[in-house]
Amino acid sequence: MAATRVPKGKNVFFFGKGKADGNRTMKDILGGKGSGLAEMTNAGLPVPPGFTISTAVCTMYYKGGAKVPPAVEKEMLANLKRLEQVSKASFGSKTNPLLVSVRSGAKFSMPGMMDTILNLGLNDTTVEALKARTSNGRFAYDSYRRFIQMFGSVVLEIPKAEFEKEFEAVKHAKGVKQDPDLDEAALREVVERYKKVVRGKTKKDFPQDPVDQLRLSRDAVFRSWQNPRAKEYRRIYEIPDHIGTAVNVQMMVFGNTGDRSGTGVGFTRNPATGAKEFYGEFLINAQGEDVVAGIRTPRPIGELETVMPKAFKQLRQITTRLEKHYRDVQDFEFTIQDEDLFMLQTRNGKRTGYAAVVIATDLVAEKVVTPKDALLMVEPEALSQLLAPIFDPKEWKSLPLATKGLPASPGAASGQVVFTADDAVEWTRAGKKAMLVRKETVPDDIHGMFVAQGILTATGGMTSHAAVVGRQMGKPSVVGAGALRIDEHAKTVKVGTLSFKEGDWLSFDGLTGEVKGGQVATKPSEIIQVVNGEMKADKSDIFRRFNLLLSWADKFRKLGIRANADQPDQAQIAYGFGARGIGLCRTEHMFFGEGRIPIVQEMILADNEKDRRVALDKLLPLQRADFYGVFKEMHGTPVTIRTIDPPLHEFLPKREDLMVDIAKLEVTNQTGKELDEKKKLLQRVEQLHEFNPMLGHRGVRLGVTYPEITEMQTRAIMEAACQLTKEGGKAVPEIMIPLVGDVRELTDQKAVVVRVAEEVQKKMGVKVKYLVGTMIEVPRGAITADEVAKEADFFSFGTNDLTQLTYGFSRDDIGKFLSAYQDKKILERDPFASLDTTGVGELVEMGTRKGRATKPDLKVGVCGEHGGDPSSIHFFHKLGFDYVSCSPFRVPVARLAAAQAALQQKAQD
Ligand code: PEP
Ligand code: MG
Repeated sequence: MAATRVPKGKNVFFFGKGKADGNRTMKDILGGKGSGLAEMTNAGLPVPPGFTISTAVCTMYYKGGAKVPPAVEKEMLANLKRLEQVSKASFGSKTNPLLVSVRSGAKFSMPGMMDTILNLGLNDTTVEALKARTSNGRFAYDSYRRFIQMFGSVVLEIPKAEFEKEFEAVKHAKGVKQDPDLDEAALREVVERYKKVVRGKTKKDFPQDPVDQLRLSRDAVFRSWQNPRAKEYRRIYEIPDHIGTAVNVQMMVFGNTGDRSGTGVGFTRNPATGAKEFYGEFLINAQGEDVVAGIRTPRPIGELETVMPKAFKQLRQITTRLEKHYRDVQDFEFTIQDEDLFMLQTRNGKRTGYAAVVIATDLVAEKVVTPKDALLMVEPEALSQLLAPIFDPKEWKSLPLATKGLPASPGAASGQVVFTADDAVEWTRAGKKAMLVRKETVPDDIHGMFVAQGILTATGGMTSHAAVVGRQMGKPSVVGAGALRIDEHAKTVKVGTLSFKEGDWLSFDGLTGEVKGGQVATKPSEIIQVVNGEMKADKSDIFRRFNLLLSWADKFRKLGIRANADQPDQAQIAYGFGARGIGLCRTEHMFFGEGRIPIVQEMILADNEKDRRVALDKLLPLQRADFYGVFKEMHGTPVTIRTIDPPLHEFLPKREDLMVDIAKLEVTNQTGKELDEKKKLLQRVEQLHEFNPMLGHRGVRLGVTYPEITEMQTRAIMEAACQLTKEGGKAVPEIMIPLVGDVRELTDQKAVVVRVAEEVQKKMGVKVKYLVGTMIEVPRGAITADEVAKEADFFSFGTNDLTQLTYGFSRDDIGKFLSAYQDKKILERDPFASLDTTGVGELVEMGTRKGRATKPDLKVGVCGEHGGDPSSIHFFHKLGFDYVSCSPFRVPVARLAAAQAALQQKAQD
């Protein structure tokens, strides 16, 4: 649906009384929450009225030196007037005061990352008016103390602990354990204490003018766009920094007026498993933040049916309608005020990769969406979550249960206990597996959650922050494990008679919520077991769905999908995942196989051709056997085999290690064969030493100087192909020369390849169709692609080296400065993970265009890491590539991303 156009100069959008200025197409301007509120209002659902200050104002705020332009101020006040009319209440009124919530809402939801203020409009006068109107002094003062606390911490930046201290002191003095047990008098005292905190910290009284309160809160929400956790969240999810957040100002409805009120959140289907069940939780006599903050563990939503049957029935009807309307699972927020239901939010629900596949395939079966829609509903990355290991069932069963929590996000997690997000990061950096154990997680923990094996909390429900974020990350999570007694200072966690300290192993199953002590071995996911042939396909429901979704993807995608695989077992997995060809077989990886390194070293140490050929003759049968295996596993689909690429010294011991060995032998006076050999080796290592090995004697340059290596490799490839053909099988070899920057390098090597290939075929008496092509990974190769194409049957872009050589960033050293580049926004993403389409991409485009100008049917593919990256795949699709090639485990991701690229392009055309 095309976005509705916005009149110029309009920055504030009203919603209320069944009509809204905005709608669902306006997420860019209204943010997700604002557009959902507008859409629900237009649909006649019970939504408290309000207005949305657009994301454009956030940008103006930052550009204007933390000020909102006067014209927008005016527009906001005009909308406030309208809100007063519609709600029949007014700011500061002594009889019927208007109270509002002020909430953030960016285009992409960022759960809990930005700030919210509730009960705005309360002051010393309106609190009394609220009491009189509701005949509920306890409620009025509870709302006021919440407001001062939120405003104090969010707007005035007073540490939360300052307020909590006072709150606890009053609770203690009154001998009260639970918040709802405080009476009006006690809450009045809390309010007085809070006001003192504000005066003490800001040297000013708590602001009493509601319009001032509103302006200050709005600006604080804009500021929260730039708080560290929001920035970290955007970094992880690649949400652009410049888009800003909208601010939603909405009439308050109250879930804390007593036992006939409440608040909750829910999903129309289970976001962890995808099951079609009404899912969520609520709290009686509470405000929204109490549910998501994870402070109180709420009740399952099913219980609402007995507590407030009318509101429950209405909620079910509305949310079912919303799911149909948006044709996707909805994540909703509601408040019940004195048994009247109000909807506060609806959005497409975040879900685990597992749930994404279940939901997409179910919605097609239910005819809510078409297979095309379903393909666009699943993030390609979600599919890799389905490949994550699960516990070995035997080993898991053998351990006693420590406790059980809520199964918030599936997956097997086993790690060493840490109690802070920072520790999780530190332990992970040190190469350990960290299990983040927290009483509750707060949005500031996001960096630790990202690296941890799993997240385990003592409080919070299925929709608490930890659960929502864990699910979205695909991070195994168990929350609300109430039996855990966590002491974050002492760094211990006790459960029953068991006790764990920092560094002890703990494991849990995110699908069942079971928590156990100890480290538990894992085994491959069900999908991998099916692909490996260890499990029957019809025994696995998730495999059936996974396969179904990908079969739809195959119908729509234009790109071929190949895999980078060097060994028969990898080729088998790749084929099982749906790769129909190998895009890169790195032959040198085969040199590392058992017992081969000494032969490779013999080849390298040889200082004349004759000796080198002796060693090569020993390698020939080994390589031939590998190639034969790969051809066989690929069932007659093309297999691109690259001749040797890395500098030779990579196969020799390190110079420093040899020097130490020699010194040791000499000190102990051990002369003889071993010492002589080491000395010879050192001499050769020193000869081969290069200042810039990546720019040195590697790739085609090795073949040019030692053509006998290319000869042996071609012979091994062709003998294997001929052998298989003779046996009635099929092999389609594509021999690829790396690092070509000048067509004459390719001419030189091609001559060797063709000569040997013809010779082998003749000798073996069979014909095998083979291609000779090149990698395009040196900028000059791309620039002169029209020339190179004269000699090449195909191009395969080596975007790893092409990125390295275009930027001049060493692939192996970028880690030292990448984060600084990202922090300073010089780079948005790691260019080795996601293609730099502007620079490196320009060379890819030029290489393809020029290559195909010479040979219109030139086969073009990519085999750098970018071949498995969804956004890069979109780029290669647009350039009309024949295929992308990626690691076997990324094949499902690439299949889906390729289908999405084709569908999205179709939608644009
Ligand atoms: C490349 O450079 O992109 C490539 C695939 O080759 P390698 O990573 O082996 O250098
Ligand atoms: Mg390369």
